[in-house]
Amino acid sequence: MKNTIAIVGRPNVGKSTLFNRLVGQRKAIMDNQSGVTRDRHYGYGEWTGKYYTVIDTGGYVHNSDDIFEGEINKQVKLAIEEADVVLFMVDVDTGLHGLDEEFANVLRRYQGKKPIYLVANKADTNQRAHAAGEFYALGVGDGEIFTVSSANGSGTGDLLDAVVSHFDDPWEEEPDSGLPKIAVVGRPNVGKSSLVNLLLGAERSIVTDIAGTTRDAIQAHYSAFGNEFILVDTAGLRRKSKVSEDIEFYSVLRSIRAMEESDVCIVMIDATRGIEAQDVNIIALADKNRKGIVILVNKWDLIENKETNTIKEIEERIKEKIAPIAYPPIIFTSVLTKQRVHKAIEVAIQVYENKRKKIPTSQLNEVMLREIEQHQPPSVKGKMVRIKYVTQLPTHNPVFAFFCNLPQYVKESYIRFLENRMREHFGFEGVPIGIVFRKK
Ligand code: GDP
Ligand code: GDP
Repeated sequence: MKNTIAIVGRPNVGKSTLFNRLVGQRKAIMDNQSGVTRDRHYGYGEWTGKYYTVIDTGGYVHNSDDIFEGEINKQVKLAIEEADVVLFMVDVDTGLHGLDEEFANVLRRYQGKKPIYLVANKADTNQRAHAAGEFYALGVGDGEIFTVSSANGSGTGDLLDAVVSHFDDPWEEEPDSGLPKIAVVGRPNVGKSSLVNLLLGAERSIVTDIAGTTRDAIQAHYSAFGNEFILVDTAGLRRKSKVSEDIEFYSVLRSIRAMEESDVCIVMIDATRGIEAQDVNIIALADKNRKGIVILVNKWDLIENKETNTIKEIEERIKEKIAPIAYPPIIFTSVLTKQRVHKAIEVAIQVYENKRKKIPTSQLNEVMLREIEQHQPPSVKGKMVRIKYVTQLPTHNPVFAFFCNLPQYVKESYIRFLENRMREHFGFEGVPIGIVFRKK
């Protein structure tokens, strides 16, 4: 599943304002919980049950009024290569601008390759929306102009309806190879390629090459340490660049891509640097995508003076940063000395098994109804919530439906309680579990 949107356009048309709106509530929540930095050029959102990634190309390339042709080419090329749908944004307030035409000239070269939508922003009022007609002259898009106000949100729903019509439906099951698909992700230099190379060399590992299902993911079938799995890589997106900001940017995009294609995501963290905002962000994305997660604290060999509680302290710090996500196993590895690399793969495969686990309804009810009896949901406005039974839904990922009289009165804290009890009794280490309430 790709589902990536890129926003292009000259400076000050409102790209980052739209970006923030598309990323919406989720980003705010994620930021509060995990201390993710504000200054981001990609984000994650959902519309009508479809999930998407948004890239703000303006945040990435040089963004000022003296923008020159090279920048325009760079921005458009990035958008066309990385996104499935491109939004070309203009501004009805200032009207047609010379730079809009320059963007249009570049974009027209790609017409037909990717859906390109012309978005006329700052249409805060109807009167302003009517002024958007002049942008037809740009000759970009399929003839329709989406008038929106990124500031107040009007028109953005219609735009999203059109955009997500190009995206995969999350409920469509992907063909299952029956093997765990594992992605190795993390910041530049944490040891991802060293790990992959080590796995490659472990036994004569490549059994077959499976052609990428999508344009840039490479999936290779490995057998290492007696386990078979598919390693998802996105080498196609590897790029040479001298600018470290570029390297960082592409490495994040690559991680997201690989993560989206996987069942289990191995997130590598550098032991000498500790967990960083970008790591937290990737983990939060994997959680939202309902992927299994294993955290490797790599370069463990570089930590000197390890004491009995060093591991504990580092674990605590990671847990604090990724809260409330509490389920990923944390393993301390050294790819260099091969310490616990075998274990890491075993755990990743176990996480995959946990993700596919189905708990029989009878067992679920026996265990959970007893827990619920001992710890009833708090009453709200004098109303008692009565949970009658529990069942696991037939979804790809573990989701449990609790049937009750008043689903709307169940509080977040009680959902956490149920999740904790579920994990205590049934495991699910490394796997996000869904808990939903249905009326009965
Ligand atoms: P970017 O450079 O394209 O990313 O543009 P920004 O998102 O930074 O927006 C530039 C300016 O336009 C800011 O002052 C925004 O508050 C303003 N702006 C963005 N969207 C709208 C909108 O829909 N209506 C109005 N009136 N102003 C907007
Ligand atoms: P990537 O950018 O995440 O793919 O990172 P690389 O695999 O290219 O590794 C970056 C550098 O870290 C290389 O010089 C590796 O040799 C080194 N490295 C990788 N894993 C370890 C480790 O466990 N311990 C030490 N000391 N160095 C490591």
